[in-house]
Amino acid sequence: MMRLDKNSGFIVYGFPLGEADQLVTCFTSSGNLIKFVAKGSRKVKSKSAAAVQLFILGEYVIYRGRGLPILRQADIIDSFSPLRLDWSKSGAAFAVMELCRLLIAEEAREQDAFKLVLSYMLHLKTNDYDPIVFDSFRLKFAACLGYEMGFSFCAQCGRPLQSGWLYWPAGGAVCSVCKGPDDKKFLRQEDLSLLDILGEKDFIELRGHFRSQGKTATKIIDSLINWLTEGKTKAQAFRPLFEG
Ligand SMILES: [Zn+2]
Repeated sequence: MMRLDKNSGFIVYGFPLGEADQLVTCFTSSGNLIKFVAKGSRKVKSKSAAAVQLFILGEYVIYRGRGLPILRQADIIDSFSPLRLDWSKSGAAFAVMELCRLLIAEEAREQDAFKLVLSYMLHLKTNDYDPIVFDSFRLKFAACLGYEMGFSFCAQCGRPLQSGWLYWPAGGAVCSVCKGPDDKKFLRQEDLSLLDILGEKDFIELRGHFRSQGKTATKIIDSLINWLTEGKTKAQAFRPLFEG
């Protein structure tokens, strides 16, 4: 059966096909990951080239027949151009797109995750890049996908935590009894409360705060992302570069 369908979403990945084409991955507003061929999109004068660049939000009309779906028409909704002129912001946007590509399944219907990505991208458009806000995004993104982590109570037995040990498979932090014999990262009370705050507060409220504890939070959330992506993320390694 042949059909045309219209999708709006973010371009999260482009893979070269032959000399002029790309196989493009798009995270749609319905929360799914779709792939289609953008013919001629690697040619300089191509009309569709601009619309299938990374982290463009666009509307894409896809033709589905036999073989791979083909892009028929593309319109840019938002090119997020202020992000493209700023090294830190574009670094963060690339990392966000990579997370979508690695963690969203094809028919996932992760609409909340899409809304979160959109709100973080809009935040980046009008605010300076702030590592703590980026870390809050990553923690919330995991939560949207069903990996909501808790840091106030032991994820295993439920007792309140003054301090704890990081244990992602249990769902956050665990107490000394539930910790088990393996080596786990120790979390002080201030780390636990910062992680809770990062999961709860809006991006705008976090901006400019918690600078001194930021590095610890980043390491902890890096380890969450590594656990979720099974170490496949590359953007994380470049973060020291875009944070200067
Ligand atoms: Zn416990």
